[in-house]
Amino acid sequence: MTPYPPPTPPTKPAANARPKLPPRKMWALFILALVVNYVVSVFLFPSSDAPITVPYTVFRDEAGKGNVESIYSRNTSIEGRFKAPVTWPPAGQPKQKPLRGTQAQQPSRTAGTFTTELPAFFDRQLEPFLISHGVEISAVPIQQGSGWATLIYGFGPAILLIGFYVWMYRRAAAQGGGGMGGMGGIFGIGRSKARRYDAEKDDRVTFNDVAGIDEAKNELVEIVDFLKAPQKYTRLGGTAPKGVLLVGSPGTGKTLLARAVAGEAGVPFFSMSAAEFVEMIVGVGAARVRDLFKQARESAPAIIFIDEIDAIGRARGQFSMGGGASEQEHTLQQILTEMDGFTGREGIILLAATNQPDVLDRALLRPGRFDRRVVVNLPDKTGRKAILDVHVRKVPLATSVSLEELAQTTPGFSGADLKNLVNEAALLAARRNENDVSQKDFLDALEKIVLGPERPLLLGPDDRERIAYHESGHAVLGLLVPGADPVHRVTIVPRGMALGVTYQRPQTDRYNYPEAYLRARIVGMLGGRAAEEVVYGTRTTGAENDIEQATQMARNMVTRWGMSDAVGMVQLAPPQNAFLGGGGSFGGEKPFSEETASLVDSEVQRILNECHQDAKRLLREHRPALDGLVQALLKQETLSEQEILDATGLPPAPDLQSRPLQV
Ligand code: ADP
Ligand code: MG
Ligand code: ZN
Repeated sequence: MTPYPPPTPPTKPAANARPKLPPRKMWALFILALVVNYVVSVFLFPSSDAPITVPYTVFRDEAGKGNVESIYSRNTSIEGRFKAPVTWPPAGQPKQKPLRGTQAQQPSRTAGTFTTELPAFFDRQLEPFLISHGVEISAVPIQQGSGWATLIYGFGPAILLIGFYVWMYRRAAAQGGGGMGGMGGIFGIGRSKARRYDAEKDDRVTFNDVAGIDEAKNELVEIVDFLKAPQKYTRLGGTAPKGVLLVGSPGTGKTLLARAVAGEAGVPFFSMSAAEFVEMIVGVGAARVRDLFKQARESAPAIIFIDEIDAIGRARGQFSMGGGASEQEHTLQQILTEMDGFTGREGIILLAATNQPDVLDRALLRPGRFDRRVVVNLPDKTGRKAILDVHVRKVPLATSVSLEELAQTTPGFSGADLKNLVNEAALLAARRNENDVSQKDFLDALEKIVLGPERPLLLGPDDRERIAYHESGHAVLGLLVPGADPVHRVTIVPRGMALGVTYQRPQTDRYNYPEAYLRARIVGMLGGRAAEEVVYGTRTTGAENDIEQATQMARNMVTRWGMSDAVGMVQLAPPQNAFLGGGGSFGGEKPFSEETASLVDSEVQRILNECHQDAKRLLREHRPALDGLVQALLKQETLSEQEILDATGLPPAPDLQSRPLQV
């Protein structure tokens, strides 16, 4: 996937760019300084006292002549001072082959100090020899080089660094008054990192690439239209929307929609993820917001897009963790201020996306700020077909492919899931060396996505049979209980976390669930354990996941959906996040008594028990169907919808409407 939006350099330099060195020049300067430092220390001061490197024999000769004043030795290297300066290599002589361990090919120089290497065969007579020739053997290094050279060698880098920081600091200070606020200028931290979207690029996204979310798309088409011809809308006194909030589950195409707006609007489009506003340094977020809006205002009409705005838009005063809180609040505050600052006549529209609108600060949502809320729903069957159409554009399809059927098989899939499905199918077909992607590739890819990849796991015949009964229990009940979702597939090939899988899917997209349907689901979920009990009379751990799901469903029936007469229509569970799923929390004490809590528990247990009894009863009554399915499963491992009907000899489950639940 391409990062969004492609980071492109601004087409023209921002008008508010401060006169400053771009980072690359800064580095060049820094490196230049280092080079100067080196040159100065090596070439300007060497003549004075830099040591020459001499062969060991020369050193011994000089010592023998009494010309060595003192030496200092560390390991095998010796440095020392001559009494009278020595020239090495001797001028006018042909250059010697450089000795190993000495500097190669040094130019002939005269110096008062030298270094040399001891040969590997250590000369035991050296010490008495040196002492007899009056050489002072020193315990401290012979001072080499001039004071200056040493100073620059030792402290040069540090001095440079300090100079660099001073320079940066002065630069920052010079800008401090320029409206960026104190920290603003340092290292450009307060500059917004917004990327400006360039509609000329080839990977431009248009409304054609967005499918299946027509209501949302139409809203945004209108906004693009507004930016193109504002007079058309303001004619009767209306003003432009200031802020549009895209709300929806992950992967439904919110970011994609914003990209399409960028591609279609023909106006500058600044995009930034909310998380990028906030950094460890206090004050940065607000400075970035200011900078972002400033840039947009200068190139108006323009669109600003803030993705995942919940990262900064959380309601104030509910932050749990210390430091970040007030920083986030300041950033949010700045956004509110900026939004109030523009009148709607400048032609700036703020787009934002989130999947948790319920945590947003109410100030953000009031009219005049994000006054439009566009809900991006999970696509329905028609929508899924349209989205598949978009994503198979570049994929060669076999004639067997029915996108219609795929759309039918994928309720609850988001646009991103469908894109993934197409991609997995294409990869699978490629791995199978096919020239085009067939329906089987799609179905296998779907199975892999929904059920997890197959897991090579060797099971003994007893285990296999037990798993076959467990899965057959689910499947048979899926055929017996009125209203149950059709059983699409059963397999005893271990996949993902599961040892076997029964895949049921609703016939149509469901938005509203009747109580009988929920009960049918619970009966089916408990069918695995029920079959094991009916057949073997013992229990295993294999039903953990089933029990968990069934319990959750039953608890929701009691605490959320008012489906228990004993408890009544009381909300006893915290509201759920509509787009992310999962429970919220009450935050603090439970708003009900202990008696109610225990009543809820017993009602949940009652529902589960009733469903469990139903499951066992139905399976006992239809034992031949159960056994038939198990035999087929042990033989073929995976069965399709038709094969399941054949093996059990049962018709598909009747609809709820045609026959009221009798179990
Ligand atoms: P969100 O921002 O809502 O979490 P994205 O816009 O990032 O989701 O969607 C991820 C990808 O899924 C997109 O880049 C696109 O390829 C695909 N996608 C999602 N929704 C749609 C759609 N409605 N039509 C076509 N493709 C979609
Ligand atoms: Mg997104
Ligand atoms: Zn199960």
